[in-house]
Amino acid sequence: MPAQNAQVLFPVHVDTPFDYEVPFDMVVKPGDFVFAPIGQHYKLGVVWNVGAAETDRELKPIAEKKPTQALPKAVLNFVSWTAKYNCASLGMALRMVLSARKALDPSPIVTHYSPISPINVKMTPARSRVIEFGGPFPERASVIAERAGVSTGVVRGFADAGGLIAQGLPVDQPYGEPDPNIAGLELSPGQLDAAASLIKSVQTGDFSVSLLDGVTGSGKTEVYFEAAAEALRQGGQVLILVPEIALTQAGMKRFKARFGAAPAPWHSALGEAERRRTWREVINGRAKLVVGARSALYLPFPNLRLIVVDEEHDTSYKQEEGVIYNARDMSVVRAKLSRASVVLASATPSLESLVNARTGRYAHVVLPERPGSVTLPEIDLIDLKDDPPERGDFISAPLIEATKNVLSRGEQAMLYLNRRGYAPLIICRACGEKLKSPDTDSWLVEHRETGRAVCHHTGFSMRMPKECPSCHAEGALTSVGPGVERVAEEASRHFPEARIEILSSDTSGGAEKIRERMQRMEQGEIDILVGTQMVVKGHNFPGLTFVGVVDGDLSLVGGDPRAGERTYQTLVQVAGRAGRADKPGSALIQTHQPDHEALQALAAGDRERFVSAELAMRDMLGLPPYGRLAGVIVSGPELGQVEALGRKFVGLAPRAKGVEILGPSEPPIGRLRGRFRRRILVQAETSIDLSAYMRSWRSKMKLPSKYKLHIDIDPQSFM
Ligand code: ADP
Repeated sequence: MPAQNAQVLFPVHVDTPFDYEVPFDMVVKPGDFVFAPIGQHYKLGVVWNVGAAETDRELKPIAEKKPTQALPKAVLNFVSWTAKYNCASLGMALRMVLSARKALDPSPIVTHYSPISPINVKMTPARSRVIEFGGPFPERASVIAERAGVSTGVVRGFADAGGLIAQGLPVDQPYGEPDPNIAGLELSPGQLDAAASLIKSVQTGDFSVSLLDGVTGSGKTEVYFEAAAEALRQGGQVLILVPEIALTQAGMKRFKARFGAAPAPWHSALGEAERRRTWREVINGRAKLVVGARSALYLPFPNLRLIVVDEEHDTSYKQEEGVIYNARDMSVVRAKLSRASVVLASATPSLESLVNARTGRYAHVVLPERPGSVTLPEIDLIDLKDDPPERGDFISAPLIEATKNVLSRGEQAMLYLNRRGYAPLIICRACGEKLKSPDTDSWLVEHRETGRAVCHHTGFSMRMPKECPSCHAEGALTSVGPGVERVAEEASRHFPEARIEILSSDTSGGAEKIRERMQRMEQGEIDILVGTQMVVKGHNFPGLTFVGVVDGDLSLVGGDPRAGERTYQTLVQVAGRAGRADKPGSALIQTHQPDHEALQALAAGDRERFVSAELAMRDMLGLPPYGRLAGVIVSGPELGQVEALGRKFVGLAPRAKGVEILGPSEPPIGRLRGRFRRRILVQAETSIDLSAYMRSWRSKMKLPSKYKLHIDIDPQSFM
């Protein structure tokens, strides 16, 4: 028998796997985890291919094979696809799958306890609590103690006395089995139709994509639960992607209520033990229902039947660092490789998905109304030219009036402004100096709650200075423009009696405090909630009947071609928070551009009007979905060199009809963390394989060390 060789891919910045010899006493197949020598070290890698040794070169042998299940074939293909499509290195794409290395080792064995019945030892109140609240058993002493509100000593003592039996079990226990047959809410006729169509797609057992397009509060979650239940009945695994921000305890509770067991979670803040547990349970196929943020797409599912992308338009699905990818688009690829179904759900679908639905590439499943008698909020515009706020203020008279009415009815209001902190700009009245971030082209934002000046791009912060750092004039620094803290301050002047709270990612006390505030809002303990983007996603506030948008104007910074679309989406979602229970809601939007197409369509409650105007514009300009875009960022420590490299790269562009190259030019943030940046934008006709074009272009360019070139296929950020 000839010696075998294997190609092993390492999760590092490499584009190809390396050749190794397979020792005679080892059998490997693609997907197996192995240790192999590279340079002076042994490194963990994944077998990519196996074949007879064809090279005369002396190959080093693979050192060890891990006893874990191999990565499924579809996952290997997905890694290749991800790298190719996004112009990333193959090794770095693999790295996204190896997100819990500890899961490759067998789970440590620890002592678990369960009650012995009948119990014939002396009972105490604490021991009774162990029995009553400590389960489900078997469980570790620390967990039982926490659930029962007793010390671990009580649990151990109870065991020593013979009331509990101890056994060694793996520390990573399986997640509870979700039960697809628990009845959900009684669905409305429209919801039933939508659910039936999704269920049918799952039943075909083939690849399909459905766009679940339903107004805010129409019950999309209830509907896709039915598709998930069907996939579970078939014994498949289900992945539900949600924006990171929606992964709250409250959000997870809904899944538990519907399926009787908490789903396996996955997000960036997950602790090491939970990561290990979820990863292991996914690859062994026992975790049937996973709810996670975008990176959950790179978990090693062997038996994936359904992927739901909730709020599919959400920008947080785009990963902007490392391997740059869009989880919404990649979920379609992932499903195709496993012949699974995808449900993209949104009240404001991305224009890309909408066009795919209209041209028949995706099934279009529409939920036109809210269940029962709940109606959509009435939206009106306030023209700030006609109704300017008082000097130095940001809330206009009509907005104050409307809020007053809501409060007098004992209902809740929300003021929305997507700007953290107190003021977005700090300027010296004496010399005109603006406070800048030290190593980044951005202004420092005043945060009064913490008394600091903060850079929102890098996180740099300093104590708010007493004097101007330039001319040293004292007391001359002035805050310019509104942030949520300032709007809350103004609101408490207008409504001194009201209970006013701020909700933003700065809310001190972290996720716990944010959750608590949301809960108090839900229970009606807050009258006016002043919030950023944080408040937009996935929360139901039943007593909220009015939303006031402090600044509805388009943020056209950086020439983002999706600025209009984003504004429309955000405002529909924000306004959609109002009037979700039995009382109708309304929204008022302050604007300087009341004639803008997006705002006009909002006020008219006519999405089609916005969509057709926006699509016509995109078509004319050859922008997505009628054209393709790629962004390139060249960055490095010296400006002259960055500019020269940018020009050199443009000079190397392969000639192709239907491709247009713009730049290099200075982006809105020309320097970030001390590195200068220049941007190139590539616009191509849809018939062009832009990923292949960019890969071939990139391969012609050599960069000096410390200089980087990032390719971003279908960029969402133009900073
Ligand atoms: P969406 O995801 O479309 O915004 P949700 O699924 O979150 O909507 O539903 C909005 C609210 O309406 C939730 O509180 C949900 O429990 C409720 N709801 C949805 N469908 C029904 C129904 N058929 N019967 C009663 N309440 C429903």
